[in-house]
This record gives sequence, C-alpha cells and structure tokens, in this order.
Amino acid sequence: MFAAPAESTPLLPDPLDHLASVLFHEMGSPGVYGRTALYEDVVERLAALISLHREPGTEVMRFPPVMSRAQLERSGYLKSFPNLLGCVCGLHGTEAEIDAAVSRHSGDWTLSLSPGDLVLSPAACYPVYPIAASRGPVPAGGWCFDVAADCFRREPSRHLDRLQSFRMREYVCIGSSKQVSAFRERWILRAQEIARDLGLSFKVDYASDPFFGRVGQMMAVSQKQQSLKFELLVPLRSQEQPTACMSFNYHRDHFGTTWGIADASGEPAHTACVAFGMDRLAVAMFHTHGEDVTRWPAAVRELLRFSRTEKATTSAFEVL
Ligand code: ATP
Ligand code: ZN
Ligand code: MG
Repeated sequence: MFAAPAESTPLLPDPLDHLASVLFHEMGSPGVYGRTALYEDVVERLAALISLHREPGTEVMRFPPVMSRAQLERSGYLKSFPNLLGCVCGLHGTEAEIDAAVSRHSGDWTLSLSPGDLVLSPAACYPVYPIAASRGPVPAGGWCFDVAADCFRREPSRHLDRLQSFRMREYVCIGSSKQVSAFRERWILRAQEIARDLGLSFKVDYASDPFFGRVGQMMAVSQKQQSLKFELLVPLRSQEQPTACMSFNYHRDHFGTTWGIADASGEPAHTACVAFGMDRLAVAMFHTHGEDVTRWPAAVRELLRFSRTEKATTSAFEVL
C-alpha cells in the first residue's frame, strides 16, 4: 500500500492530453487506466506485429503481473530502483486480528498490513533468468525467449506516456557475449525497421537507467560509457524530451552470475533484452496518425492487418 507520492509533473497542458478520453477510462489514480476497445485493438495488433518478427527457435512465456519477492531481491533491483518497486502486502494473523484491523473503530487498516512474498513485476524479463538457470548450461546456440507481463512502477504522472501499470513485451537472449551482442545489434536495426514501417518518427540513442541516489548517478554514467543501453525515442512531447518506446539492454554477465547460468564454455552467460513498451507504442501511433484508425496511412493499416480483418470478420470462432 502506498501513500500517494508527490506528483512531480506540473499541471500544465500536455500534447498527449487530447488522447485521454479516446483511449482511456480514469480509474482514480494517475497512470492507472481502463482501456477503450479502440486502444486495446491497436495494442493487440502491435503485439501481433512484434510476434511476426520473432526469431526461429524462440520460446514463448507469459508472466503474471506479480513475481517472487526473493527473486527480484536477488536480481539486485533494490540496489538500482527501490523507489519504483511495489510490494504485495496483506492482512496476516488470526481472524480476530484481521477483523480488528478492518473494523471501523481501529482507524487506518493499512497500518496492520505486512509484506507477503510477492512484488509487482517492474519488468517482464526478471522471472526468465531463474527459469533458464534451472535448466542447466546454455546450449551452444544460446537461448532466446519471448516474454511479456503487465508491469508496475511507482512513478505516478498525468502524462499518458508514463503509466504506473503498463504492458511490456521483451525478447531476451542468453548465451556467450558474442551471441548476445549480435542479438542486440540485430534488434537495434530490426526495431528501427518496425518503427519506420509504423510511420513513427524516431531516433536511437544511448541511454542510462534512472538509478536511485548518488551511487546510482555513477552507475548511470558508467552504463552510458559502456553503451549498455540504447533507446528508440519518439518525439511525442517535443524533440528535446522524446519518449522511449523500446529499449535495448545489455546486462553483460550480471544475470548469468547472479543465477549461476553457465554458457557452453562454462563461463557465466551474458544476457540482453529488447523491450517494447506496448502502451507507449500504442499512444505513439494515435498521437502520430490521429484518433481515427480508418484514416491511418494505407501502408500502416495493411501492416497492422486492419484491411484484412475487415474483409474476413467471420472467424472460425464466430461460426461456432
Ligand atoms: P524512461 O526512461 O522513460 O523511464 P525506462 O528506461 O525506465 O524508460 P525501461 O526500463 O527500459 O524504460 O523499460 C522498457 C520499456 O518499457 C521502455 O522502453 C518503455 O517503452 C516502457 N516503459 C518504461 N516505463 C514506462 C512507464 N512508466 N509507462 C509506460 N511505459 C513504460
Ligand atoms: Zn529486460
Ligand atoms: Mg523509467
């Protein structure tokens, strides 16, 4: 449970505001929205497009919005982003104790909460490393996974491109440093093709994660110096403050060492992931091409299969 953190964004009009009522339903908390059918349809089409680019041999896994607290702690998340993490808490104790905690006379029931063994997943790829580790050494060709999860980050904002609850899709590569670097290089190029095909303006740039605190500032500088993170940035708000819609992250042997994953030569495996912010991509599409999808450029509609589904509305399921 959280006290609402202070809103950092001033209440100035934002260039994305016009999309709010078309794409989202307010749910009483900034960055947590119900989604309209129009919006959800585009998210699904973008997800299908990303699936079309899946490399052969990639294993698909879908994760729930929660994950093991112990696993996330072991991954080192609390060293880097403790401020963003959400933890699942519950009312533990006897029936009488729980009754007392929630009775109207006892005041604030949240004071009786205690943490459970789950956290809200802050990124889609964290659970895949311990699963991979349980399978023994990485085969010579390396491993590729296609993962997705609803993610949570406690960064409330009224900007529609910074949500607290959002969908992340990732391709993850585990193998030798050479395999993993090649994977990331391929994806940096492929992702730009996808963005171009979608009619988005963008640039790819080095980036650093917003590591927490003073030590974090040094970690961010070192991450940039070593080119460990790139982002595909779309100028939704302005050219100066573009929005990261995809990121390309090279973790070197961090997860290999943490989880004891060995590559084919017995060295700690290297890992990389390419992450697609599904909600940011969908918002970017509406901001770029407008609210009426029937007026999106023909090539973009064809790519997202709008033209095709309109012709073939009777699916096998509808016939049944
Ligand atoms: P930013 O710098 O904008 O905070 P990030 O570096 O924290 O982004 P990553 O940790 O690389 O982002 O997350 C992977 C992807 O998830 C991002 O490229 C972005 O598309 C998406 N994403 C991250 N944070 C949010 C958010 N608060 N709301 C919506 N999408 C997000
Ligand atoms: Zn990842
Ligand atoms: Mg962030």
